[in-house]
Amino acid sequence: MDAIYSPDHLAHNPTEQVEFGHRWPMNECPQRAENIKAALLADQAFTMHSPIEYGLDPIVAVHDAALVRYLADAWAEYIGALATTPAPITDAVADTYRHPAMNEGMPPFREPQGAIGRLGYWCFDTTTPLMQGTYQAARSAVDVALTATDRVMDSTAMAAYGLCRPPGHHAPVAGFGGYCYFNNAAISAQHALNSGAARVTILDVDYHHGNGTQQIFWARGDVQYVSLHGDPSRAYPYFCGYEDEIGEGHGRNSNLNLTLPPRCNNDEYASRLRVGIDAIAAFAPEIVIVSLGVDTYTNDPLGDLDLSTESYRQQGLMVRELGLPTVVLQEGGYDVEAIGINVVTWLMALAGV
Ligand SMILES: [Zn+2]
Repeated sequence: MDAIYSPDHLAHNPTEQVEFGHRWPMNECPQRAENIKAALLADQAFTMHSPIEYGLDPIVAVHDAALVRYLADAWAEYIGALATTPAPITDAVADTYRHPAMNEGMPPFREPQGAIGRLGYWCFDTTTPLMQGTYQAARSAVDVALTATDRVMDSTAMAAYGLCRPPGHHAPVAGFGGYCYFNNAAISAQHALNSGAARVTILDVDYHHGNGTQQIFWARGDVQYVSLHGDPSRAYPYFCGYEDEIGEGHGRNSNLNLTLPPRCNNDEYASRLRVGIDAIAAFAPEIVIVSLGVDTYTNDPLGDLDLSTESYRQQGLMVRELGLPTVVLQEGGYDVEAIGINVVTWLMALAGV
């Protein structure tokens, strides 16, 4: 199987995040991708390739062009604004976020002109710092995803893997957060449609609900979104991912959220995934894009499920049974010791080797 990788992610190396009431070392760290890469290189079933550069057009086909312009300039603008602060700035994190209550019943907010305000206008959480290498890393992650997608769209292969970092599924049309800047899977889905596919499914097996992907395709009937994730009543992103969210308009019944209880085991997970697989078969897409997160693993520091490595074999096999061209894109997974074997196990089962 072709695996696409770019070293540009190494320059996105935030030092810490604020989550669960504490400052933590950054869970979304470069070692994650490097350990996956090492596991792929150790297996003869995979061939590593560099991405092709696609430019901005596929990104602005999904994201607000103003968000893209902001991310391109954000770091230089931020350090310029804080040039006189005593401590060196390594990570840009907002202090004030726009909240719907602030302008309820009023016109929409305008984008502030100052760097500090702009950060809170576009970002929605405290876990997604910007730094000097962030924009290039995010651009390359999109190129990785699109290169993998074209491997499948041009019928070169039935399956391909994009080792995306940073991940993407939390990023909506006009914002960023949840470690995500550009929505790699959504951009790939739109690219597949623009390349001739009539229907695309995004299957999201990350522990967290892909709120960005859901938002982007909420009213769209040409992209089905199927997600298995920790119930948002206890799990990030908290505000969406509930089972009664089914889409609207043309997208009604194209959005399927399957929530999981704490300590969900391999068998329970497989039975929930079966519901998702059956829905995908009924939708009959021409291509499946998998948002692959292995933060469902029993030892993951951000998840609370109880899956073993065997579950990733089961998941890959169940997707293989669909018999559809499949692009697998990396999302989460924060147990850096197990991330390589878990991803490779998933991909090997999909490939039938
Ligand atoms: Zn996740």
